[in-house]
Amino acid sequence: MHVRRDDLVQVMAGADRGKVGRVLRSIPEESRIVVEGVNLRWKHLRKGPKNPQGGRVQREYPIPVARVLLRCEKCGRGRRARARLEGERKLRVCTKCGGEVGGK
Ligand SMILES: [Zn+2]
Repeated sequence: MHVRRDDLVQVMAGADRGKVGRVLRSIPEESRIVVEGVNLRWKHLRKGPKNPQGGRVQREYPIPVARVLLRCEKCGRGRRARARLEGERKLRVCTKCGGEVGGK
């Protein structure tokens, strides 16, 4: 997986192409991730003691990790990244402009 939880990513393909959000959850077994505000679907709630009226809420569903790239703020889009060593720290930088990607 080229991204992990809390990374800032941009969706590069599919219905939500162009959207930017944080990775909320990573599901390596399925090569899928859940991204904040991406692939929202209505979930319908059954009537019950907690929800006497029932109801529906929007929530994110997993998308293939291959649809996203780490967001590069300098380029203003998703970009592939390479690792760069800076002392002890391993930075992930944009392959085009060398800026740091993925957000903080
Ligand atoms: Zn860049």
